[in-house]
Amino acid sequence: MKRADSTPRIILRSEHGIDRSLISPKAIEVVDSLKSAGYSSELVGGCVRDLLLGRTPKDFDVTTNARPEEVRTLFRRCEVFGRRFQIAQVRIKNEVIQVATYRRSPTKKSRRRGSRFVSLNGKIIKDNLFGHIQEDAFRRDLTINSLYLHPSDMHIVDYTGGYEDARNGIVRIIGSPAERYREDPVRMLRAIRFASLPGFSFDGATEKELSVCGHLLSGISNYRLGDELSKLLFNGRARKTLELLHHHDVLRILFPPYKWLKAGKNDNHGVIDWMRMLLDETDERIQSGEHTSIAFTMAAILWPKFNNSLTKRSRRRRNFPFHVARDILHQQKIRTYIAGNFVQRVEAIWLFQKILETEAATKGTRLVQSENFRAAVRLFELRSKVGEVEHRKCRAWTELRDQQVIEPQPRLNRYRNRPRWR
Ligand code: ATP
Ligand code: MG
Repeated sequence: MKRADSTPRIILRSEHGIDRSLISPKAIEVVDSLKSAGYSSELVGGCVRDLLLGRTPKDFDVTTNARPEEVRTLFRRCEVFGRRFQIAQVRIKNEVIQVATYRRSPTKKSRRRGSRFVSLNGKIIKDNLFGHIQEDAFRRDLTINSLYLHPSDMHIVDYTGGYEDARNGIVRIIGSPAERYREDPVRMLRAIRFASLPGFSFDGATEKELSVCGHLLSGISNYRLGDELSKLLFNGRARKTLELLHHHDVLRILFPPYKWLKAGKNDNHGVIDWMRMLLDETDERIQSGEHTSIAFTMAAILWPKFNNSLTKRSRRRRNFPFHVARDILHQQKIRTYIAGNFVQRVEAIWLFQKILETEAATKGTRLVQSENFRAAVRLFELRSKVGEVEHRKCRAWTELRDQQVIEPQPRLNRYRNRPRWR
C-alpha cells in the first residue's frame, strides 16, 4: 500500500475503460452543481469500485470539500444526517445521493484512547474532523473503496493503491488492520463482504487480524450489525460469506444462539451444513431475481436452535414453543436488530411447522391464506431435504403452494439509497 504522503496515481479513462453511461445522471448533476459553486467534488467508494469490477453500482456516493451545511444551501431537497458521521443527503426526483465532506483521522494526540474522539477500547466515537482529499483517502476502510472518479473526463485518482488491488482482487485495509478494526470493528464485516466477491482474497495482515479482533463486534450497536448482516446475507454470495465468517470465528458473534460454534471444530451439530444448504438456496434465488426475506432467512438460520430447544426441554408446559421462540429471538435481536413485525413472522414460520407436520395438505385449507404459508413451506422443504420430515408430506404441501397465484412484488429502484450507519 502507498504511503500517506506519496503522490497519487492518475488513471485515465483510456486505461480503466469505465462506461460513463453506467453512472447515475443525478449523481453527475450533484458533482457538477458542487463544482459550479466553486467546490471540488468527485464520485467515491462503492460505486467506483463496482464500476471498475464491471458490476452495476447500487448507489452513488459523492465527496466534496464543501461542509455539510454548505451542501445544504446548494440543493433544494437536502438534509444533513448523523451525529458521529455527518452526511448530506441530496434528493433528486426519486434518487438520494449521499454527499460526504472530506474527513481526516484524528491526530496522534487526539487519537489517544479515552479522548473526545476515541473511546477507551480504541473505537472512534466522533468522525467529523474535516480535512483534505488525501487525508480522506487514508481514513477510508479498504484500498478498493478509496478511489475518486471525476465524471467530467472520467479520470480516477488513487492515493492508496486501490486500483492495483481492484485489478488483482485484493482486499486490503488501509493502515494497520489491528488499529483500524479497533477504531471501527464493522470494517471486519465489510472486509469479509468484499473478500466474498468472485476472484477476491484477503491481503495477509488484513486477514490475520480478523480472528484476533472478531470479538470487538459484540460492542457494536445492534442496528448497525443488523444492517450489515442483511448485506452479508442478500448480496448473492452468502454461501462464500458464511465460510469466511465461520473460518474467522465471527459467525458465533453474529448469531448469539450459536455462540458455542467454533472455527475448525467438526462437531457443530450439523448447524454449518444446514446453513450451507440454506445459503446456497438463497444465492440461487437472488441470482434468478426471486424474492427472499429477512424473516424467512432468520427463521431458517435459527431453526436448528429452536428445534433442538424444543426436543430437549419439556413440551408439556403451556405455550412452551412460543416462550422458546421469544427467548431465542431476544438473544438474536440484541446482537443484530430485527424489526418487531419480522420477529412475529419468524415465530409464525416456526410455529407453522407443527401444523404442516400434523395436518393433511388438502385443497381449500385456510392455511394457504396465511401470509406466512409460503415461507413456512419453504422451511418445511429444507427440513425434508435433511430428512427431518417426510418427503411425501412435503411434496403435498409444495404442490398446494405452487397452485397459489403470487402477487407481483413492487420493483425496487435501481439507485435506491438506504440510510447508512457509520
Ligand atoms: P455498498 O454501498 O455496496 O455497501 P460501499 O463501499 O459504497 O458499499 P457505503 O456504506 O456506501 O459502502 O460507504 C461508502 C464509502 O465510505 C466506502 O466505499 C468507504 O470508502 C467508506 N466507508 C464506509 N464504511 C466505512 C468504515 N466503517 N470505515 C471507513 N470508511 C468507510
Ligand atoms: Mg455505497
